[in-house]
Amino acid sequence: DRIIIGMGTCGIAAGAEEILKTAQKEIKKLNLKDIEISITGCLGICAEEPIMEIRTNNERYIYGNLNPEKTREILKTHLGERNIINRWLIDQNSDFFSKQKRIVLKNCGNINPENIEEAIANHGYLGLAKALKSFSPNEVIEIIKNAKLRGRGGAGFSTGLKWELAANNSTQEKYLICNADEGDPGAFMDRSILEGDPHRLLEGMALAAYAIGASRGYIYCRAEYPLAIKRLKKAIKSAEGMGLLGENILDSGFDFRVNIRLGAGAFVCGEETALIASIEGKRGEPRSKPPFPSESGLFEKATVINNVETLANVPEIIRKGSEWFKKIGTEASPGTKVFALAGKIKKNGLVEVPMGTTPGEIIFDICGGLENDAEFKAAQTGGPSGGCIPIEHLNVPIDYDSLKELGTIMGSGGLIVMDTQTCMVDLAKYFIDFCKDESCGQCTSCRIGTTRMLEVLEKISEGRGEKQDLDLLIEMGEVVKDSSFCGLGQSAPNPVLSTIRYFKDEYLDHIENKH
Ligand code: SF4
Repeated sequence: DRIIIGMGTCGIAAGAEEILKTAQKEIKKLNLKDIEISITGCLGICAEEPIMEIRTNNERYIYGNLNPEKTREILKTHLGERNIINRWLIDQNSDFFSKQKRIVLKNCGNINPENIEEAIANHGYLGLAKALKSFSPNEVIEIIKNAKLRGRGGAGFSTGLKWELAANNSTQEKYLICNADEGDPGAFMDRSILEGDPHRLLEGMALAAYAIGASRGYIYCRAEYPLAIKRLKKAIKSAEGMGLLGENILDSGFDFRVNIRLGAGAFVCGEETALIASIEGKRGEPRSKPPFPSESGLFEKATVINNVETLANVPEIIRKGSEWFKKIGTEASPGTKVFALAGKIKKNGLVEVPMGTTPGEIIFDICGGLENDAEFKAAQTGGPSGGCIPIEHLNVPIDYDSLKELGTIMGSGGLIVMDTQTCMVDLAKYFIDFCKDESCGQCTSCRIGTTRMLEVLEKISEGRGEKQDLDLLIEMGEVVKDSSFCGLGQSAPNPVLSTIRYFKDEYLDHIENKH
């Protein structure tokens, strides 16, 4: 028998450390023998944390919403008396689990992320072994290109093409960077992968490095993710110890070392040239492109930057092939996407679904609808760079292109759900305020434009607005989008423009009724 406690950040925040201690004490007290207590990452159903699983001969019994008292009762009854407490179990056949397709989250909440042997027992590093034995670097690129894997960090650029550009660069030294600087408010997909299955990322990085010819990789991770950093460090050490990272990996002659660099929480450092500057020890400011990082990136060498979720997809594609991957999702965007559900949703947490799933299916079928069965108003995707999806578009299949048509973006996968109590002017104000604070200040339109847009929004929400303020907001928004230098400024007006597009009446209500 095994007792497995969910020890992701979500579990720990909900009290999992106390549950772990309680379980350890109770096992001794009940004098139960041959019971192993282990930890795991986030299972995705964060709303039910703290979570404890009892695993017997591969049968999984998952109990949620624990407190010490409930934990003692479960251990006494389930393990001591061999009676399962059905009413406290999380239903693993519910839509929350059955409607998901887990590729990158497959091991999260299942394996102990601090034990490399568990990762290996769950197909970890098999893709790397296969590639080093059977594929040339070019063949690996072809597989990823053929799989049509698109960058999961937001823009949706072809990953294989990115790799090919760097691989074709004639410089000897090349670098691979994993962008783990997840900065969108409400997004925590990457953190859960890093905490729950760090070896999947390391394997994806090794495969990418092999494909482009890099012998050194950096993980740029925000310092606010201490648990992710701790588990990554441990994972790197274990992988090096087993010859899966470092010199002459699996006796193939391929060398690859991974270092971690900590970001100080600047949102703009998610932009690739700012991120590179930050790793080089310079101020994290975007620079003009070209040259693109694939030609001249880190230390002026050819560099590929992929985000965590993109790289976490790679091992499975190499192991199972591009045709397998293309059968999942849509034709233009194969595979799955992980979404972080936050806001007024019943089952907040992480879900991984095939591309093309609709927001309605995610919010209502998988996550059980809104808290207190409140009425749905809108969902924000793409964080401060995105926009909102109103009720009439809940049945639009989500992929990079369909969301663009709705005036929002996929972004990294944050999905914030709002009910009819949410003021959309306040929402727009919150996001533009965020972008104003995070603007690096290099361009006038971004620095001053976001400040002026915030002032107008404040005026409207305090009942001092006039009708022409809406035209002014739209005009300023277009100018900021067109004349800003990097993605932060170019997308900062999106939440304002999108809420005006879909909820103009609310703006007019503030203006006409002076509240
Ligand atoms: Fe900096 Fe904003 Fe210009 Fe980007 S758009 S470089 S964040 S000032």
